[in-house]
Amino acid sequence: MRRPIQDEFTGLAISRQRKYQLRKQRQGRCTECGEPAAQGSRCLKHLVKARERQRKKRGLKRRYYNTLSYRLEAAA
Ligand SMILES: [Zn+2]
Repeated sequence: MRRPIQDEFTGLAISRQRKYQLRKQRQGRCTECGEPAAQGSRCLKHLVKARERQRKKRGLKRRYYNTLSYRLEAAA
């Protein structure tokens, strides 16, 4: 049987999902799919998904075109 991961997140009183995210973040990878992160905490695909999800949830009208996900999209 595989031994559980032992690192600084092991004993924390947080969910398995949050530990996964923290470990991915430490490795510079997307916190959702584990692909190499563009910049910040997610790959471009998930940056865009997170942005649109948050827009919807918060009912935002404006688009901040200078923000990271738009700039990376424009460059791609
Ligand atoms: Zn991703």
